[in-house]
Order: sequence, then C-alpha cells, then structure tokens
Amino acid sequence: MKWEENIRKVVPYTPGEQPHGQHIIKLNTNENPYPPAPGVADRVVSLDLDQMRLYPAFPEQTPLAEALARRYQIGREQLFIGVGSDDVLSLAFMTFFQSGKPVFFPDITYSFYEVWADLYKIPYEKKSLDENFCIRPEDYRQPNGGVIFPNPNAPTGVLLDLQKVEEIIEANQDVVVIVDEAYIDFGGVSCLPLLQKYDNLLVVQTFSKSRSLAGMRIGYAMGSAKLIGYLNDVKYAVNSYTLNYAALQLGVEAVRDEVYFKEQCDRIVRTRKHAEEELQRLGFIYPKSYGNFIFASHKKMPAQVIFEKLKENDIYVRYWKKKRIDNYVRITIGTDEQMEALYCALAKICG
Ligand SMILES: *Cc1c(COP(=O)(O)O)cnc(C)c1O
Repeated sequence: MKWEENIRKVVPYTPGEQPHGQHIIKLNTNENPYPPAPGVADRVVSLDLDQMRLYPAFPEQTPLAEALARRYQIGREQLFIGVGSDDVLSLAFMTFFQSGKPVFFPDITYSFYEVWADLYKIPYEKKSLDENFCIRPEDYRQPNGGVIFPNPNAPTGVLLDLQKVEEIIEANQDVVVIVDEAYIDFGGVSCLPLLQKYDNLLVVQTFSKSRSLAGMRIGYAMGSAKLIGYLNDVKYAVNSYTLNYAALQLGVEAVRDEVYFKEQCDRIVRTRKHAEEELQRLGFIYPKSYGNFIFASHKKMPAQVIFEKLKENDIYVRYWKKKRIDNYVRITIGTDEQMEALYCALAKICG
C-alpha cells in the first residue's frame, strides 16, 4: 500500500503479561505485592466528583509536588511529575537527546530505552555489561549524545555504587545523564545528592514499585531548574493535562506516610534475602539484587522450561529470549506466601 511508505513504523515495547484470575501468582512485572499506604484508601472515598468535571491541575502546582519536594529536599522547580516514569523517560529522550551523536546505555537493560531511541530516531550504542552484569564506567568515556542507565539495573538488579555513578556523570558533563532509579528504594543508594554538583543530571523515580501505585501511573524526575524547564516545555508542547485528578490526590498520601513506606520496603528486602537462600538451595545462581526482583539462572534446568512450567502452575515470572540472558528468569518478590508457593513449584520443576 502506497500510504504505508510514509508512516512512522516502530517495534513497540513488550510489557509483561497482565493475566487475570484469583488463583494466579503474578511475579512478572515487579509490582508491589502490598497495598498502597492506608491514607490512600481513606482518600479514595473522599475524592470529589465535581473535580472530575474539570481539567486536572498542573502537576507542579499541586500538593503532590509540594510533598515530593519536601520529601526529597529539592525546590519545586527541580521537579517534574509525569504519567509513570515511562512518560517521564519518553519525554526526556525527546527533550535531551538531540545532538545526533549516539546515546549510550547498557546492552542488558530496560528494553524501553531502545524503543524510544528508535521512535525518536536517536542514534544509540549499547555498552556491554561485564561478565558479572556490572556497568563499566570506563565504557562511557567516549564522545556521545547522552547517557542513560537504571540503577539498580533492570532486569539484573545489579547496583552500581555511588562513586562509579559519579564517575560516569563526571566524564559526561557536556551531555544529559539520566539515572533511572525505579528500584532505588529496595536497598540502593540514590545519586540525588549529586544534583548539587551537576546541573546536567536527571534522576528519575516512580510510584509504581516501592509505593505500590503502578495502576495510578505516577513518575517523577529531579534535576536542575534549567533541565526541568526544558522538560516542561516539551511536555506542554505534547499534552497539557497528563496526570489525572485521582492520581494527583492519591499520590500525596503515598508520599506522606514515610513509616509505612519504609516498613513495606524493608519487608520486600527481607523476603528477597530469604528468596536468595531458597533459590540457592534449589540450584539457582543470580547476581546480588538491589531491586524487588531476582534475576536467576538454574544450573541444570533451562530458564525457558522453568518459565513455561511455572506458568502451567499459574505462577507468572518474566523471561526474555535474548542474547546473554536467555537462560535467566526474573522473579518479582511477592508476599512470603506467594514465594513459598513459588519455591514449592520450583522444587518440582527443577528437582
Ligand atoms: C518499572 C520501570 C520503569 C517504569 O515504571 P512506571 O510504571 O512507568 O513508572 C522505568 N524504568 C525501569 C527500569 C523500570 O523497571
């Protein structure tokens, strides 16, 4: 068809399956197994129907922005809030990676980066992780059009220590460096304090994992006022009203309850530690994870078989048939009860 020659063609990102059913144990998309802060439930019932008639507020002018700015000790002009961090990251690709030079990111990483780069026609170069799935800062010293990596990395869970993160930023002060901290609350050290030293650093976080609000779609970026200003210009050139009224209201409650937040993160970390022992006992190897998931490979049973057999048992984990990682499954940390069911199923499959 002639018209097909002149349209934008992309290979979209493939998210993990969202199966439905009561009995299903869903450990495939790194959702939090615990409910959001109790304040969220209270606020849900007092949402104002009349507000739904109106266009929502601009995120940066809401109590949510105020709460986040206070929580992270930054100015409101240093904060951008989007519809999940995917929205924030997509806008950041559009805004910051315009030089025509290749953007650098790891070969094994969040696969959405490649999709956005293709979508916006941004050239890119993937830098190989070392044999332990670690980022090598020296790979990021060549001329480039920007740098992005998750810390901890996905889907490996490997954390790059703060000193090495700074090494990468230090070597790349002529471009924008984005650190995607989607999983930072599960034991990692945030590079947020580096904002004081580097005005080209953008730190992106999300409510989807540690704050149990994946369904509300809230993500945010922190950076210098200048950087955030450019991001806002692009955002307001694409879509003015993005976060909906309910998300803006409920998000505040999730940020305010620091006690609950810490408790839930600690709980996941405790379950992760126990999972490491159990998986080891079952014959798995894995890099040490700082996320709410473990990236594991069995010494004998192929990962694809494990993935498929678990699914037959209504347990969903994530598997990628991709170079270097096609013998790994990524297992989200669920409740202790869900994890016990997983170990039980794995013992049968791998035993
Ligand atoms: C989950 C995830 C995101 C996106 O999460 P949102 O739900 O869009 O906030 C971004 N980056 C990484 C590495 C993730 O794992």
